[in-house]
Amino acid sequence: MMESFLARKAELLELTDPDRIYVENIRSIFNLPTKIAKLLCELAVKSGQFEKRYGVKCPNCSRLIKVYNTLDEIPQNIKCLSCEVLEVDRFEFNRAEFDVVTFYRLRR
Ligand SMILES: [Zn+2]
Repeated sequence: MMESFLARKAELLELTDPDRIYVENIRSIFNLPTKIAKLLCELAVKSGQFEKRYGVKCPNCSRLIKVYNTLDEIPQNIKCLSCEVLEVDRFEFNRAEFDVVTFYRLRR
């Protein structure tokens, strides 16, 4: 399965942002169950094709605030600059409030 996955790398590049590949993208492009798509992504990390990234999403505006290489790098508190600029009541969130989304980056 890994071979066909790599063979379709061009397609992957065409259909997704190579810096932000979500399991959902892999799932729909390759028409796979989510579990298998996730497994493929992890295999791609192990074989050096993908790099894993963690994005912090603002609970207020849903924008991606910042991207980290490891979970340990994610701070306890994070500020959303977009919400701050818009003068929304709350623009600083703690770890329990914000969502962390996992995605992958295609190594080139
Ligand atoms: Zn925000």
